[in-house]
Formats: sequence, structure tokens, C-alpha cells
Amino acid sequence: MCLGRVQDFNAEKGRHLVASQDILVLFTNADLYCHRCLKQLLASVPCRGCSYAKYCSQNCADTAWEQYHRTECSLGGLLLTLGIFHCYGKR
Ligand SMILES: [Zn+2]
Ligand SMILES: [Zn+2]
Repeated sequence: MCLGRVQDFNAEKGRHLVASQDILVLFTNADLYCHRCLKQLLASVPCRGCSYAKYCSQNCADTAWEQYHRTECSLGGLLLTLGIFHCYGKR
């Protein structure tokens, strides 16, 4: 589903560039909230593959990995730059 969003971005750049403003704000606070369920983090579980994804629990980390993060993990640096990293941003 993340990859679909990337294709959307390429096809409809203008609209998504506008949307990315909000998502970038989300990123600013990304360290404080679970990357998957957005619960506020007391003790974070970092992704095993990157340094920007953090989770509230190992369960969330594993579920996110299976659902979407194994795809976006390796692309994270690029998508972060584009401001469209999070699938949940427009969920
Ligand atoms: Zn969580
Ligand atoms: Zn990762």
C-alpha cells in the first residue's frame, strides 16, 4: 500500500506536495508516538532496520513490519525526504 502511494505521488505531484506539509509536521513529532498505532511512547522499541521508526511495543514493531514497514524501511530515507513516508498519514 505504501508503494501505491508512491505511484500516486508520481502521478499527481501537485496534490501530494500540498498534503506533504501536514505529514512533515507529523514527522517532527515522530519520536514521541508509535510509528504504527500513534500511541504516545513511554519506552520505544526501535525498528531493527532503520533509525526513524519507533514503536510502543515489540508486537507493534512486528505487525508493522509484516504489514508495510519491510517495504518502506529500505525506502525510508528517500520517502522521508519527499514527506510521504507514513502510510497512516492519510489513512
Ligand atoms: Zn504501537
Ligand atoms: Zn525500519
